[in-house]
Amino acid sequence: MAHAVTLVRGDGIGPEVAKATQTAIDATGVAINWQIVDAGIDMMDKYGTPLPENVLDAIKETKTAIKGPITTPVGTGFRSVNVEIRKRLNLYANLRPAKSIPGVKSYFQNIDLVIVRENTEDLYAGIEFEYTSEEAAQARKFLSELSGKPLKEDAAIGIKPISVTGSDKILEFAFKYAQSHGRKKVTAVHKANIMKFTDGLFLDRARLMAPSYADIEFEDRIVDNMCMQLMQKPELYDVMVMPNLYGDILSDLCAGMIGGLGVAPGANIGDDYAVFEAIHGSAPKYAGQNKANPTALILSGVLMLQYLGEMEAAQRLQSAVEKVISERKAVTYDLTPVGQTPVGTQEMAAAIAEYAAP
Ligand code: NAD
Repeated sequence: MAHAVTLVRGDGIGPEVAKATQTAIDATGVAINWQIVDAGIDMMDKYGTPLPENVLDAIKETKTAIKGPITTPVGTGFRSVNVEIRKRLNLYANLRPAKSIPGVKSYFQNIDLVIVRENTEDLYAGIEFEYTSEEAAQARKFLSELSGKPLKEDAAIGIKPISVTGSDKILEFAFKYAQSHGRKKVTAVHKANIMKFTDGLFLDRARLMAPSYADIEFEDRIVDNMCMQLMQKPELYDVMVMPNLYGDILSDLCAGMIGGLGVAPGANIGDDYAVFEAIHGSAPKYAGQNKANPTALILSGVLMLQYLGEMEAAQRLQSAVEKVISERKAVTYDLTPVGQTPVGTQEMAAAIAEYAAP
């Protein structure tokens, strides 16, 4: 039976990489019943929102979605559609594997790391007050009375909630992922030496849970040390689990270690729904030029095929991507050796599709 999947095309380079990904996934021969919907800044005029309700309805119906990037304008009241989708569908786990692909230029080789990022809490909870607002004034007064610590009159306020239930969910996801994917170790990443009650809670829950997964080695690292260790001894690490903000930053760091955002996939997974998306954004400067690298979203498609239980097709698609990249003939501008002409987004997808066919 065909798998029902929602394809959210996104904006900027979104529609192009989404089309390329559909081509590559269809080529594997796995039957997919695609529901194609649009979200992003281009929807504002028509729907008055970048996230029309029919997008969430479609994902709720198919339960699985793959999504092109969506722009979040900086410094406006317009909140991130990506964060909103994760929140509305309770996609609490953000999975971001970083695996070296031969042929992609990088300072690092043989990287094989997995970041598991908590996706719904922390400073991303969206509780923030502009420094001139009445709410910020009230929050400053309340918080300085409560804590006995003065706050500057011109301070904006943001809140960092980290819960027992949220921490347990993401930690359980990380340990179970490690077990089911033949991984050896889970490292909890935090800053509990400074944020004793928020990151401290996360670390306490990790330490409490670790003994239930006796076959998986457990350790923890302070986030700044973790960054340095990744630069010096990445081979010591395997699955890393962490709160939202550190996960956002470290996954870009790990993406850089495998050659950049153009090749870094991701998945947002909850108990009921899963939305697969590249780590990269909408790269507006390349929109509509058939120039962007489709690899990251196609590899997110590999994660999706695994999630759907299509392991053999997932492996075939992964190998097809690796083959096209290592041949360096049909690759986009960012992967093209000096002196060679790059191909476009759809042409690279077509080359991958050829190898991905059964
Ligand atoms: P970006 O990832 O769009 O771009 C960063 C750099 O990487 C740019 O130089 C860009 O041209 C390049 N790049 C990105 N993807 C590429 C690809 N597939 N092929 C080749 N080059 C690629 O990050 P940004 O500029 O910080 O963000 C642009 C917009 O995207 C912002 O509005 C941001 O909020 C949004 N964004 C969305 C998501 C998402 O949809 N999940 C994620 C990150 C950023």
